[in-house]
Amino acid sequence: MALSGVRARLRELAENRPVLVLAVAGMVAAGTAAASPLSQPQVRATMVEKAVAAVAQRAGDEPVRLELVWQGKDVDGDGRGDFCNPTGQEARGHDAYGEGEFGARRDGGSRRHEGVDFTARAGQVVAAPISGYVSKIGYAYAGDQTLRFVEITNPALRYAARVFYVNPKVRIGDAVAIGRPIGTAHSLQRKYPGGMTDHVHLEIIDQAGERIDAARVIVAGYRPPEGRAPHATLVAAD
Ligand SMILES: [Zn+2]
Repeated sequence: MALSGVRARLRELAENRPVLVLAVAGMVAAGTAAASPLSQPQVRATMVEKAVAAVAQRAGDEPVRLELVWQGKDVDGDGRGDFCNPTGQEARGHDAYGEGEFGARRDGGSRRHEGVDFTARAGQVVAAPISGYVSKIGYAYAGDQTLRFVEITNPALRYAARVFYVNPKVRIGDAVAIGRPIGTAHSLQRKYPGGMTDHVHLEIIDQAGERIDAARVIVAGYRPPEGRAPHATLVAAD
């Protein structure tokens, strides 16, 4: 199979079985360590060809397990993500109380959901979604002193984040680094009995002071298991 043939096969795989392409990337990268002159197109083609064949062969009966990784958007261009998933878990899907995504209908459609709900286990550690300082600790609902939020402001980025349903372990004025603990997740079962998924509600406020969809700056990705290279390696090698 010539290099162009390999490319076509990969393109086909990418469209139909994106997970397999990641597996191919991983195998090619693993092979790179063993066989050095990967700069030569023929060697590269052979290696990709072998990987495609191996993966295609086991497709269907042996699923490739990929790790879920959350990536934060880099808004200041320093090469590092500026946002992180506060619970490390998926966004809340549909439950008895509705949906957890930004803009979901609330109160019969009279208002919209202004945050993204990230599934949480009650009591789990909640991480700071951005670096900054604690600018406010407040109550989520008037008359309810159990459900609180922590607001973090980052004057350099000119972004702020509010993390709801947290038992804070920080105080106003504390500096917090992205990904570091700010508290623990509070159960929502008393407030919303009978089918609410416990979660942390995250609001991201942008430079214009508008609440934005956190799912746009905290994105789920998948990578091959430890020791294997991500998809980017394949793109670079080609
Ligand atoms: Zn919410």
